[in-house]
Amino acid sequence: MIEFDKVNKWFGQHHVLRDIDLKVEAGEQVVICGPSGSGKSTLIRLVNRLEAHEEGRLTVDGIVVDDNGKSIEAIRRKVGMVFQQFNLFPHLSVLENLTLAPVWVNGIAKKDAEAQAMQQLERVHIAEQAHKYPLQLSGGQQQRVAIARALCLAPRILLFDEPTSALDPEMIKEVLDVMSELAAQGITMLCVTHEMGFARSVANRVIFMDDGQIIEEAPPADFFDNPQSTRLQEFLSKIL
Ligand code: ADP
Ligand code: MG
Repeated sequence: MIEFDKVNKWFGQHHVLRDIDLKVEAGEQVVICGPSGSGKSTLIRLVNRLEAHEEGRLTVDGIVVDDNGKSIEAIRRKVGMVFQQFNLFPHLSVLENLTLAPVWVNGIAKKDAEAQAMQQLERVHIAEQAHKYPLQLSGGQQQRVAIARALCLAPRILLFDEPTSALDPEMIKEVLDVMSELAAQGITMLCVTHEMGFARSVANRVIFMDDGQIIEEAPPADFFDNPQSTRLQEFLSKIL
């Protein structure tokens, strides 16, 4: 579903991704962790071309990610993204946040978009909040709205960039629970998170990045219980 083949990226002189090789199969859930500045966000932002790579080959569901506008459009229809900051429009209701892109970008009739939006809100257990405004909701509820918004575009892949990092501790679980349910439904996920309990129970594979490189990649049991590199051992000793 996603394939990085010797992908490199620079910001000016700064070599931020080095020879990234990574495959995510359909239905897999892959977690990425690593220190701040190691390139995690940049790596996932390449997938829907929020950033561009300079070298190597990246494909998403068979489409080569490059400058071609038609390809980028096709890829963005397949890939939903959830950010640390929920990026909801504060002046629109929850329902309007969810129907905006389906109606204005995809040309779906408003009534159909609303029915679809209500289904996705039910999926994240928040349908009763449909007519509220984002700032009337808790952070955990807002993040679940953001997940529902991504689901409204029927993505084949969901990208998450530290989706619980801006949340108060008591709200983290409700978001991780929804993500676990989506994983169990077989959605392909590439997720940057330091929630190691989630990684252990949900991920098929966990990836450790440091300084723009993938240092280690393993199923969660091996990753946590038998880390190979000293860098990963040190990282885990700090966060676990
Ligand atoms: P992470 O998500 O692991 O914290 P990032 O992918 O955000 O790391 O950043 C990787 C490196 O690239 C960091 O050194 C960061 O400062 C740099 N960087 C990220 N975005 C930009 C940008 N738009 N312009 C220049 N440098 C950037
Ligand atoms: Mg980041």
